This record gives sequence, structure tokens and C-alpha cells, in this order.
Amino acid sequence: MKIIDLRSDTVTMPTPEMREAMFKAKVGDDVYGEDPTINELEKKAAQIMGKEAALFVISGTMGNQIAVKTHTNPGDEIILEENSHILIYEVGGIAAISGVQPRPLKGERGVLNVEDIKKAIRPDDIHQPSTTLICLENTHNRAGGTVIPLQTMKEIKALAKEHGIPVHLDGARVFNAAVALGVDVSEIARYADSVMFCLSKGLCAPVGSVLVGDQEFIGRARKYRKMFGGGIRQGGILAAAGLIALERMTKRLEEDHANARFLAENLAEIPGITVDLETVQTNIVFHDIEKTGLNGYEYTQKLKEFGIMINPAPKTLRMVTHWGITREDICYTLEVIEKIVKGG
Ligand SMILES: *Cc1c(COP(=O)(O)O)cnc(C)c1O
Repeated sequence: MKIIDLRSDTVTMPTPEMREAMFKAKVGDDVYGEDPTINELEKKAAQIMGKEAALFVISGTMGNQIAVKTHTNPGDEIILEENSHILIYEVGGIAAISGVQPRPLKGERGVLNVEDIKKAIRPDDIHQPSTTLICLENTHNRAGGTVIPLQTMKEIKALAKEHGIPVHLDGARVFNAAVALGVDVSEIARYADSVMFCLSKGLCAPVGSVLVGDQEFIGRARKYRKMFGGGIRQGGILAAAGLIALERMTKRLEEDHANARFLAENLAEIPGITVDLETVQTNIVFHDIEKTGLNGYEYTQKLKEFGIMINPAPKTLRMVTHWGITREDICYTLEVIEKIVKGG
């Protein structure tokens, strides 16, 4: 039986071209700055993002945590969205590693309101912590892969600049955002001082993310990467796949978005299933099965019997499209769901 794995775009395998490139990669000791493939990846990433410099890191979490550490001092306060990855899924790292306190704000489909940020920035007061960072997430994972409008990014950046506060963008899926907005990714990155993006999700690299920013920031971030145990020696083996992710795989994301849209629109037609189509902007689809009377755990178990994998949850379930998921797979998935919902 074919397995259709819709749990996440992190399940993507390296492409045959990546494996070939990894086999042939020129490598050196990256802690000495001598890995030519990592150096090439960092140079390309900085260029594509329109920033001065880049740092190859092991994971998106490591990239975000290094960014927070580099931008802040212990006791500072950082503003972020209440369902952001940095707040929910990074094991409390900002508290444990950087000693900062979060100021979570409620976003609208993952998008923060500029006025809310303005009100949350601390005044210069001997009693209060200093607001020293604003974190954004584009696309927003928990909100369903939603995109921050460019105008909003621009306004947040202008406000932050007025207060001398840097903006960090968790752009794990920022290439999906660029495709959805129909702009070059640097048009998004220009409204952030630092950006982290993942090579290992929809872009299919086996391991790795990149943090970009100005020369001075990346210089200090590089030292923190070492502190965090992220000096990666002959990591060019990984960067070789990353280069293909960056240069080739970013060009095919439209297909994932079209498949997600097709999936969402057809799911919404199945009696008892609810989909907020407004949130389906990229490669993530959430659907609510509460009105079908089914239990989410039984539902995911039944899907598994047909070779379809999604993460179990009580009633709102996520599906993510990616390289290797075809339109036929989506059609088959829809047929199976219809059958399960009808009690067949
Ligand atoms: C996946 C993800 C990360 C972290 O990436 P890992 O490589 O899994 O550590 C950070 N932010 C967002 C929005 C993500 O979806």
C-alpha cells in the first residue's frame, strides 16, 4: 500500500539530485570557516534574502533561539504572537537560554495588529523590562500557513524602527509566503532585521536552516552557534542538499499550494466537515470534523488503515502538502475521508 504522509512537510525526503550532490560535496572544517559548500550556501542565502550575511544552522529551532539570544539580554521582554512556534514549540528555550520574558499578543489568523504591538512596547520606566525584540512568523504554522500582508510587515518594521527595536522573522516557510504573495522573498525579508528559514521542510533538504542578517549580527550569532554546540565541521555534506533546496525546490511550491487549495475546497463540501478557507493560503489545511460525530483519534486511525497519515488531534486536524504528494494522492484522500464520514 502506498503511504500518503500528510502529517507535515518535514517528512519530505532528500531528492535524488540532493543525494548525488551530497555524495560529491567539497567539504572542509566549517569551524575554521573552511567548508566551501557551507560558505557557498551562506553566500547564496544572504544574496537571495537581500542581507549582508548568513549562518547555516542545524534546525529552525536553533536558528530562532540563536536569533533571540543575539538580539537580547537577560531580563528583556520580547513581543510575539500567542500561537507562535517560538512560544509554543521551542521547549521554553527563550526563557532557559536567553532569560527573556515573552509578551504574547493575540493575532488575527497569525497576523499581529500594529496598534497592539504599539501598546505592548514598554515605556522607559525603572520598574519595567525593556522591549528589545519583536518576533513575527510568516507563514504562520498554527494559524494554518497564513501569510502576513506586505503592508503589515512594513508598518510593523516602521514602528519597531521608531522605537529602536529589531524585528526577527521566523520564516521557516517564508518561501511559501513569497509564492503566495507573488513577490521575491527579499521583499519580505527587507522588513526584518534577521530572518530564519528552513531548508528541511517543503524544500526537502535532510537537515538545516539558515539565519540571515547584517554582518555584525551574524558574526555574534556565529559565536552563539558554537556555544549551543552547533559548530558543524564538514557540514558541506548537508549544505550541498541545502543549495539544491534553495535554488531548485523553492521554484515548485506553487504545486503544493494548488494541491492544498484543491484539498480544502473539496473537504469543505463533505457534510459535517468544516474548513476555514480563508486560512488556506499556502500548503497547510486544517479541517474540523466535530460535526461528523467522529472522534479525531478514531478518524486518524481509520485513515491510517487506508495508508493516509495525519497527526491525531481531538477534532481539528492538520494536513500539509509537499513534494511527493500528487493530485492523485489528494483525490484518493478525499475519497477515503468521504467514505469514513459516511460510515463506510
Ligand atoms: C518547523 C518550524 C520551526 C522549527 O524548525 P525545526 O527545524 O523543526 O526546528 C520554526 N518555526 C516554524 C514556524 C516552524 O514551522
